[in-house]
Amino acid sequence: MKLLVVLLALLAGVWLWQRGRRLKDHRDAAPRANHKARALPMVSCARCGVHVPGHEAVVGRHGSYCTLTHRRESEGE
Ligand SMILES: [Zn+2]
Repeated sequence: MKLLVVLLALLAGVWLWQRGRRLKDHRDAAPRANHKARALPMVSCARCGVHVPGHEAVVGRHGSYCTLTHRRESEGE
């Protein structure tokens, strides 16, 4: 009878441990997915090679630039 109680306690412990681990995995996975969605695409300046976030880049005819100055210097506008 004692052995049965110990066995049940062990099974309950393993069940709780696996349940807790699954919940933790789920919590860990969610922020990673959000972070990936928030990550900004980086583009490099066609003039100097500096990497700037896509929404800050100046788009020209021959590529993206870090500043208007570099677009002007590269494309002659
Ligand atoms: Zn540049």
